[in-house]
Amino acid sequence: MIIEGHRSKWMFVKIWTSVSFHILKRHKNPVKFYKIIKGAVGIKKKYAKEKKYHNKFALVDGRVFFNCNNAGWPAKHFYRIIDLESRKTLYNDVTNLENLRMVQLAFTKKCPLNCEHCYEGEELNKKETLSVEDKNKIVKKLQNAGIPVIHFGGGDPMAKIDDVIEILNSAEKKSDFWVFTSGFNLNNKNAKRLKEAGLTGVSIGLDHHDSDLHNKFRRNNKAFSWAMEGAKSAVNNGLVVTFTICLTRDFTSKENLYSYLELAQRMGVSFVQLLEPRAVGNYAGQDVQLLPEQSTVVDDFFLKVNRDSEYKDMPIVLHPGYHQRRSGCSAAGFKYLYIDTDGYMSSCPFCRNRKTHILDSDHESNIDEMKAEGCDLIKELEKENELVNV
Ligand code: SF4
Repeated sequence: MIIEGHRSKWMFVKIWTSVSFHILKRHKNPVKFYKIIKGAVGIKKKYAKEKKYHNKFALVDGRVFFNCNNAGWPAKHFYRIIDLESRKTLYNDVTNLENLRMVQLAFTKKCPLNCEHCYEGEELNKKETLSVEDKNKIVKKLQNAGIPVIHFGGGDPMAKIDDVIEILNSAEKKSDFWVFTSGFNLNNKNAKRLKEAGLTGVSIGLDHHDSDLHNKFRRNNKAFSWAMEGAKSAVNNGLVVTFTICLTRDFTSKENLYSYLELAQRMGVSFVQLLEPRAVGNYAGQDVQLLPEQSTVVDDFFLKVNRDSEYKDMPIVLHPGYHQRRSGCSAAGFKYLYIDTDGYMSSCPFCRNRKTHILDSDHESNIDEMKAEGCDLIKELEKENELVNV
């Protein structure tokens, strides 16, 4: 259910009241409390800025979600960001790993597809190097560092559903877990198993509202029906659902964007995430970036459907590229990093500056390196003078 208007304002008040109580409970010293509140005002401003882009929440199974990359409320780990900022303000003792808001773990090399845009195309269906035990250790390490959101990507984790269930069952209930999938194997029975094991949501890769064109892109004539059945099964079992699309030049037009959003609404999904193609993986060496006039169409669509009351019941549209051009990149070890199918850390799935293994002990210096190297996309945009001053 999408909450907007007065209900969303009321929800905002409830959330900020709970945040204040949380801080009060933790820090009874008035000086500390004052310092934290000063810092929290900065976070509140950030959320207010976010509100500029959308004033809606998704309410799924009694929890409220702003997007698919932050923990839902209520949950103890929702307050993780507040606690981190408090520690930074009071003691400045937060490590690089603890500072991450989200980590994506490429769960498996296995996948029944070989999509046009796959960034793991080279690795697909090779021999696995990470065992279930390794993945359990990785999840434990991330949870010990307090990471509030963990994404399982791939390959397709649904090709290893039993392992996903086993790891979810072993994990502590102090992170939101998401599975990134094509929809393969995501039927009602498996959605129920995932929900019962503690999964929060699924992001389903859907690259066109037209079934034939999606199947062509995914190089499999069952891909569209998998995505639809996956979405239906996940919604029916109380999982948060995001449709994630790779915005190709062929797809990107105003008409297609609106038709896609209507399909997402009909399927009951909460979020539509727009990702711009990058020349990596199967797209390496190709000129795939959107044309400037197409970027403008996407930006206009993003702002209009999130703000206009005409679209108030529509899914919330997320457009990370829009924010990257204005506020920089939050991956590259700043707030997010990627762990590849062999367990090695990179800045993100697209900037593959392979660092140390996540289970090694020198992650702190490696994350420092990532931060110093920064984001390849931002460097390209800087070169082309395409960053937007705000
Ligand atoms: S479903 Fe995902 S992992 Fe599999 S080929 Fe497509 S993009 Fe790659």
